[in-house]
Amino acid sequence: MNLRCARILVTNDDGINAPGLKVLEKIAKSISDDVWIVAPESEQSASGNSITLTLPLRVRKAGTRKFAVNGTPTDSVLLGVQHIVNGKKPDLVLSGVNAGGNLGEDITYSGTVAAAMEGTLLGLPSIALSQMRVYGENVRWGPTEKYAVRIIKKLTRETWPSNVLMNVNFPDRPVKDVGKVEVTVQGRRKIGSAVTTGRDPRGYDYVWIGAERNEDPSLRGSDLKAVNEGKISVTPLCLDLTHKRSMPLLRKILK
Ligand code: MN
Repeated sequence: MNLRCARILVTNDDGINAPGLKVLEKIAKSISDDVWIVAPESEQSASGNSITLTLPLRVRKAGTRKFAVNGTPTDSVLLGVQHIVNGKKPDLVLSGVNAGGNLGEDITYSGTVAAAMEGTLLGLPSIALSQMRVYGENVRWGPTEKYAVRIIKKLTRETWPSNVLMNVNFPDRPVKDVGKVEVTVQGRRKIGSAVTTGRDPRGYDYVWIGAERNEDPSLRGSDLKAVNEGKISVTPLCLDLTHKRSMPLLRKILK
């Protein structure tokens, strides 16, 4: 792909006003002059591949080639490609930069990754980008700002299978301490181990799912292990969720 002439669609799940979107906008504009931004009006983290079918959507022009959609990341990409970006279709979808990693089972909840999945389903090469962070502290965007362009350029030099997308996570380290790029497998970590209960101001009980995650950082070659070691993780993800190795057994027991 000749990136200089590439039409890039930028989106995210943290919303049109998120600092990470500005980081990605700058990255995209340093690569191409033909950058379009279509992002959710409000934060849609953990929306997964949710698509809005039962309600109408509104599109708000938020700047030059910049639009906000009052829906999910998936809605944004779908509307971006099918409706908003006119003339030719985007050549590349970039989603992020998410404030926080998308690793292990996060991938199944992530709106950031889902937006890249939607791009892939629409036949476009798509990359999800996430910056690791410590929750409650300011996000250090330095590793993304320093290395994202290089990685995007290298990835897009090749043609990937049509059902594959790229999931890139940058470690939470000072730029000088960022290690090499590692090609990784999806690790294991699960959100939801901590559930907080309380009473709201009107006297009703509530339950709130916390951000704590049970991690299994031991898995060799995993995304989690790489970023924990200060490396940049790149995982090729496949939209075909079939577990092929289970099929012979299933055929045997189900005949
Ligand atoms: Mn998010």
